[in-house]
Amino acid sequence: MAVDSGPTPPRPASVREALERRAARFVHRKRIPMRNTAGVVSFTFDDVPRSACRAGRDLLEAHDCAGTYYACGGLTDRHGATGEPFHSREDLGGLAQNGHEVACHGFAHLPYQQRHLAAVGADLDREAAFFAELGRDVQPANFAYPYGQVSPALKRLAGERFVSARGIRPGVNAGRVDLALLDAVPLFSSTLTEAAVAEWIERAERRRGWLLFFTHSVSDDPGPSGATPALLEFAVAHAARSGCSVLTVSHALGRIAFRPS
Ligand SMILES: [Zn+2]
Repeated sequence: MAVDSGPTPPRPASVREALERRAARFVHRKRIPMRNTAGVVSFTFDDVPRSACRAGRDLLEAHDCAGTYYACGGLTDRHGATGEPFHSREDLGGLAQNGHEVACHGFAHLPYQQRHLAAVGADLDREAAFFAELGRDVQPANFAYPYGQVSPALKRLAGERFVSARGIRPGVNAGRVDLALLDAVPLFSSTLTEAAVAEWIERAERRRGWLLFFTHSVSDDPGPSGATPALLEFAVAHAARSGCSVLTVSHALGRIAFRPS
């Protein structure tokens, strides 16, 4: 199979784009009070390289945990710039069958801030058609902004189309959570130490918050935006041992919206 480029990083954000991203935090909020009585941790994987649905999945399942996989239909059966394969349709089907969540990341992994809103809508429609073709009876309810690119207009669109939309701004969601722009911590071996992972989990526990980690590849050579199996193992084991529940985004939303009886 030909090696193609996969998601290439967009050009650096212009001043306008940087301002839009900041402004998006304060408008079109979809805030709900959090009713969970203990902290929640979610492990999420963007773009879904094959290693995330093999090594990453095995590691989660060894701890009886499940993850959320934000997949792009346009990356299915393709390879990234380093030659690493992305997921296949069978990989996604296997994830869903084993209790993991397959969620939406747009079809073509586009830098949405650099596209007209109509083009973004068309890309999301194409992604919905991809999921329908997969034979899944439920359309993906949750979304992650490609490259974390968000503007007020994109946030309104995502807030209307999805139950939740996840960004890439590090933080623990606590108190009243904004479902249209969830904070998430990069679980990248290049930048995050085990001590920092433990601190984030403890913060979620202390604040009864919702901590979402996100990463890409899971391998011994995961690149700048992936995790080694050792770091993911540490994070999952630490979260599972903590007072937090480890849940998919979809299940976390249920826990947060409705206090368990
Ligand atoms: Zn992505």
